[in-house]
Order: sequence, then structure tokens, then C-alpha cells
Amino acid sequence: MNAGMLPPALVLNADFRPLSYYPLSLWSWQDSIKAVFLDRVSIISEYDQEVHSPSASFKLPSVIALKDYVPQSRNPAFTRFNVFLRDKFSCQYCGVRLPASELTFDHVIPRARGGRTNWYNVVAACGKCNLRKGAKLASDCGMHPIQKPQEPSVWQLQENGRHFPPNYLHHSWRDYLYWDSELLQDKAEQELSISSQPL
Ligand SMILES: [Zn+2]
Repeated sequence: MNAGMLPPALVLNADFRPLSYYPLSLWSWQDSIKAVFLDRVSIISEYDQEVHSPSASFKLPSVIALKDYVPQSRNPAFTRFNVFLRDKFSCQYCGVRLPASELTFDHVIPRARGGRTNWYNVVAACGKCNLRKGAKLASDCGMHPIQKPQEPSVWQLQENGRHFPPNYLHHSWRDYLYWDSELLQDKAEQELSISSQPL
């Protein structure tokens, strides 16, 4: 098999949550193997495919977890994509769900009326609603956003991200992308109780 075609590994943080959903944290098989040998990650799951070196052969990792926890930034970046993700890719006026390429932004208080471009004033909108609202205030045209726009937490965006999986998912990734928080809670408690046992 052409080595360039070998599949990537899903990278989890030390708490077994994906390092990132958007873009999904994936490492090339070369980077994954390197990290295994440097002892920076644990292999959680493997593909059936093997790679061979002159002296050894081993299965390719499909899911790896960092041994050291990487703190996640608390404030998500104010980006086009994150606004859509916060609003679940749906127009905040009529509720229609659309691909990112067909969504646009609306300033709840129009820029012409002094509205700012930030989390609290920008919402996802379909072209039709955006046009209909134009430079009018919500109170003038009766168009109020379904949800009051606010700055989301990284956690909220991750939660929303679970509903919009990437196109390619290996079956061994699913557990880690769809684990619900209760299970994560159990696991964390389990680890705590193991690590607090006297040696
Ligand atoms: Zn709409």
C-alpha cells in the first residue's frame, strides 16, 4: 500500500475528549507513530493495517490520547465558522438549517445604526431573511433572533459540534466523538479513585 494513503489517527486530549472538533484533531500516521515512540501518547485503538520497518511491524493507531493534558482556551475565536456552529447552522430568523456556504451573517442592530460586529450582535441568517431584514431594527420589522446571541463557551461549541460530524469517521472514533458527558464523568471519577489508592 502507498504509505501516503494510510489513514490518520484521531487525537484525544488526556481527558479522552478530542483535542479539537473543528477541525477534527487528526494526525498523520507518521506523526502518530512518532508520538508513540516518543512516549507522548497512548494508543487507544488500532487499525487492522500494519506498517513494517526492517526490524518490526506494528498496527497503525486509529485513536491516540495525549499523556499530558493540553489546556483548552476558554474563549472561542470569533470566526465565521464558530458563529455558524453556535447557531447550529440555522438561520436565526426562520430556523432553516443550511450548509455554511449558503448561510450569511446578520447584524441584529444594523451596522448603519451603530451595531457592532461581535458575538452579541451577529447571528447566522439565510440570504432571504438577511435581505428581508436589511438595515431595519428587530423592533421595526418584527424579526427577532430565535436565540439571543451570546458568546459561547468552547464546551458549548464542542457540544454543538457533535451534531455535525465530519464526512469521514472511522468506527473506532465514534466512541470518542459521541461519548456523553455522564460517561466522561464516570471515567474521570474512576481514574481519580484508582490514582488515590495507596501504592
Ligand atoms: Zn431565514
